[in-house]
This record gives sequence, structure tokens and C-alpha cells, in this order.
Amino acid sequence: MKKSKKLGQCFLKDKNFVKKAINRAELNDKDIVLEVGLGEGALTKELAKIAKKVYVIELDERLKPFADEITAEFENVEIIWSDALKVDLKSIEFNKIVANLPYQISSPITFKFLEEDFETAVLMYQYEFAKRMAGKPDTKEYSRLSVAVQYNADVEFICKVPPSAFSPKPDVNSAIVKLTKREPKYHVKDEEFFKKVLKAMFQHRNRTVKRALIDSSHEIEIDRDNLKEILEKIENEFDFTERVFKTPPEKIGHLSNLLYGEMLNLE
Ligand code: SAM
Repeated sequence: MKKSKKLGQCFLKDKNFVKKAINRAELNDKDIVLEVGLGEGALTKELAKIAKKVYVIELDERLKPFADEITAEFENVEIIWSDALKVDLKSIEFNKIVANLPYQISSPITFKFLEEDFETAVLMYQYEFAKRMAGKPDTKEYSRLSVAVQYNADVEFICKVPPSAFSPKPDVNSAIVKLTKREPKYHVKDEEFFKKVLKAMFQHRNRTVKRALIDSSHEIEIDRDNLKEILEKIENEFDFTERVFKTPPEKIGHLSNLLYGEMLNLE
């Protein structure tokens, strides 16, 4: 079978990284695991040896021979032939996620996971993406992605994984990340609006918060003059001279709430 680049078909061949992912997921025989991307089943088989049940979502039906082999050996594996982005995850009961993700869906699948209730997820991403997920304020990796993912999950960068761990070798480095789902540490009045504020701010991460917001006022759907007025009004409640890349997540949450309140007053 010709492996599809478009589907991110770089299969894990280095068993050490399979073991590492499984160890960090702290799997036991009560766990119900969700995996995205069967490939040739390198990860699935090891998950099936420990977990109570493994659900695997796989899009490419050419991988059926591998699926048949695995389901014949392990009764606790169920394959869902579908696009993981289209599956209603609420219809599957699971408490952990372990996957070597197809990198082209990293962002939408991660946010889809974060809408679900789960304990931990141990996931393989492209290295730079993983670093940005775990990014802290005042570092070069701190980004819109860092704030959005860390809103309701703790992110732990586990290790870098070289191209030689896969077959075929990808052109980029990879990394394993552990997500632990939790309640948000700060309250956001409107999550959709918060996302728009994040987008506006991080389009200009080196500018001051004030400048960034004004320059991307269209992202929060307000005209520049109205926004300038609002910013003047709330100047005493927020330090707008701070640079975006230095502003911690909870402060961005606070800012989003202030702006949201003022925008409701405009209506
Ligand atoms: N778990 C295997 C391993 O570690 O060797 C395969 C990982 S490979 C990086 C990603 C897998 O995801 C491929 O088997 C690919 O066909 C599958 N895939 C790609 N896009 C998908 C999607 N939207 N939904 C479900 N599976 C997808």
C-alpha cells in the first residue's frame, strides 16, 4: 500500500516511543481509550494489551487488512471507519486518549477533544506545534494556541521524537504531549468572544495590547473608533501598555470580559 502524505501516514516504528506514550498515559485495565489513526496498528496493539477497550477512528479503508488482523487478536478493539473530525465523540464513552495524530488535523482535533470529558490525553504532534501548545508567557512559543489549549487543560511537553522513529520518515521533528483536562482557572463570560480577542491580540504578539487590539479590531467585530473609546473607558482596569506575548492567560480572560461587558453596553 502506498502511504498517503495527505493523510499524515508516517507510522511509528520505534517501540520506545510507543512505550513512552503508554507509560505516560498510566493505562490500566479499567481504561477505555480513544485512538485516532490506526495506521498499521503499532500503538493500537500495545493499548489493547492493557486497556479494557480501545476505540480507533481511521479514515483510510485501505488499512482494513491491519484492522482485521488486530481485531482477530484483540476482542477489545473496535474500529470506527470515519473522519475523526466528523465523528460525534459524545457517542463514544472513553476516559483517555492516546494517539499519534495525523498532523494536518492537529488543531481542529485537539479542540474537538477539549470539548469532551476525559482524564488524560497523550498525543504526538509536530514538534513546533507541541511547543506552542505548552508555551508560557514571555517565551517565543507563547501563542494563541497556548492560551486556548491551557484554558481547560494542563499541558506537559514530554519529549522530542526524531523523524527516524517513523516509517516513512517525516520531514519534521515530532513530540509527545500530555494533556490533563481540568476546569478553567479563570472565568470567561463568553468563550466565542474570548477566542476572537485571542485571535486579534496574537496577530501582533510583539505590540502592546492596545495597539494589537486596535490594529485587529475587525476580529472582534467592532470599528476602530468605538474600540478606542472603550479602551479609554477601561484604561484604569487593565494595563494596555503590556506586550501581547507577556500577557498571561488569566489577564487576557479578564480583558475579554471587560470588552465583552462594554460591547454589550453599546448594543
Ligand atoms: N497510530 C499509527 C502509528 O502510530 O503508527 C498511525 C499514525 S499516522 C501518523 C496517522 C493515521 O491517521 C493514519 O493511519 C491516517 O490514515 C489516519 N488519518 C488521517 N486523517 C484522519 C482523519 N481525519 N480521521 C481519522 N484518521 C485519519
